[in-house]
Amino acid sequence: MSKPTKKPVLVIGGGMSGITAAVEIAETGRDVVLVEKDSYLGGNVVRMNNYFPKLCPPACGLEINFRRIRQSSRIKVFTQTEVKSLEGSRGDYRVRLHQAPQYVSDLCTACGKCAEVCPEEGPGEFNLGLDKEKAIGLPHAMAFPHKFSIHQKSCRFEDCGECAKVCTYQAIDLKAEAKDIPIEVESVVVATGWKNYDASLLEGLHYAENPDVVTNVEFERLMAPSGPGEGRLLRPSDKQEPKEIVFVQCAGSRDENHLPYCSAVCCSASLKHALTVQEKYPDTHIRIFYIDLRVMGRNEDFLERVSRNPKIELIKGKLAQIRADRETGKLEVEAEDIMACRKVRYEADLVVLATGIVPQLPDIDLSTGFSGFINAKQSSGIYPAACCKRPMDVSASVKDATAAALKAIQLT
Ligand SMILES: Cc1cc2nc3c(=O)[nH]c(=O)nc-3n(C[C@H](O)[C@H](O)[C@H](O)COP(=O)(O)OP(=O)(O)OC[C@H]3O[C@@H](n4cnc5c(N)ncnc54)[C@H](O)[C@@H]3O)c2cc1C
Repeated sequence: MSKPTKKPVLVIGGGMSGITAAVEIAETGRDVVLVEKDSYLGGNVVRMNNYFPKLCPPACGLEINFRRIRQSSRIKVFTQTEVKSLEGSRGDYRVRLHQAPQYVSDLCTACGKCAEVCPEEGPGEFNLGLDKEKAIGLPHAMAFPHKFSIHQKSCRFEDCGECAKVCTYQAIDLKAEAKDIPIEVESVVVATGWKNYDASLLEGLHYAENPDVVTNVEFERLMAPSGPGEGRLLRPSDKQEPKEIVFVQCAGSRDENHLPYCSAVCCSASLKHALTVQEKYPDTHIRIFYIDLRVMGRNEDFLERVSRNPKIELIKGKLAQIRADRETGKLEVEAEDIMACRKVRYEADLVVLATGIVPQLPDIDLSTGFSGFINAKQSSGIYPAACCKRPMDVSASVKDATAAALKAIQLT
C-alpha cells in the first residue's frame, strides 16, 4: 500500500459527470481540481430545455450540485481551461493547465452595466448561433460561475473598451493574457463528454443550406425558455410557429459512412421533444421517421404516450432526402414507409435531425477504441467516465462518474 498523499484529484470536464465526480470526491475529504474548457459548468445538460426521465429543467440536478461546489472548500474550479500536458504516474502526476485570458475576473457581480454600453453583437454562443448576443454578457441565466464573459469573435477589446470604463468593480481587463498553471495531482478523472455529429456532412438533408433543418441539440435551444424564442417554439427562417414538424432518427447514426453505432439517447430525446411540443402546441402535427425505436427503462412510457397521441405519427422508414420549395421555402421530406410498402412525401415547417453523440477528448495521451471513444481501461490512475467512453443518459453518466470517483480516491 502506497502512502496516503495530500495531492488533489484532477477532474477534466465540468458537465454532469465531471461535476458529480468532483463533489463525490470532495465529500470524502479529498481536494479536487475541476477543469472546464467553457466559461461555465454544466456541459450539454445545461443547454437542454428539459431532460428525461422526469422531463425536468436542467436547473433540477445541476443547481443542487452547484450548491455542493459553492459549499465545499475542497473544490477548485478552473473554467476556460484545458490540460496542456500530463506526465507521471498514479500518485504523482505533474500537470500543466492552460487557462484562456480572464478578461472578466471573479470581482464581476453580473450587474450588467457593461452589457448595456457594449456596442458589439455576435452569434449567441449558448444558443448555438440561433440568436445574437452582446460581445460581453452572462453566458446564460444559470451560469456557474455567475460572472460575465467576453466573446472573442465579436469583441473589439481595446479598440472599444466601453465595458471596462463603466465597470464599478474593476473586473474587466481587456489586456489579460492566457496563463499556464502547473499542478500536481494524484489521479485523474476524464469526463469530457460528447459533441453532436456534424450534420452538414449528411448528404441530401440540406442542414447547412436551410435554417429550418436543425439538429436535436439546436431543437433543445429552440424550445427552451432561455432560447431564442424565450420559450416560444419559432422556426429559425421566419420566426413563425411550426405546424408540421418532422423528426429524422438515426441522422448519420448506424451508418458506416458516418457513425456506425447507436447513440442510445436520440430515440428517447425525440420522443421527449414530440411530447413536449404536443403538450404546449396541441395542434402541431409531428412525424417521426425511424429505423428501430430504441427506448429503454422508464422512457418506454414515452413510447406508450406517443403511440396513443393521434397528432404524432411514428413511421418506420429511413429518410431519403429533404427538398426545399424555391418559392414558398416550404420543406418536403421524402422517405420509404416500410410498413406500408410505399414511398411517402410530406411537407414540413421544421425538420429535426436526431444526430448522434461523438466523443470529446482532452489533449492528453489516452487509449481510444471503438469509434474514437476512450477505453475504460487506461494506465493506472486515469479513470474515464460517462459519455467520453460511450453514449449514455444522465442517470447512467452520474453512476459511471461516481464509480470513476471511487477508483480515483483509492490509495493503493
Ligand atoms: C439531443 C440530446 C438530448 C438528450 N436528452 C437527454 C435527456 O433528456 N435525459 C438524459 O438523461 N440524457 C439526455 N441526453 C444525454 C446527455 O446529454 C448526456 O448523458 C450527458 O450530457 C452526459 O454528461 P457528461 O458530463 O458525460 O458530458 P457533457 O454534458 O458533454 O459534458 C462534458 C463537459 O466537458 C467539457 N470538456 C470537453 N472537453 C474538454 C477538455 N478538453 N477540457 C476541459 N473540459 C472539456 C465540455 O465543455 C462539457 O462541459 C441527451 C443527448 C442528446 C444528444
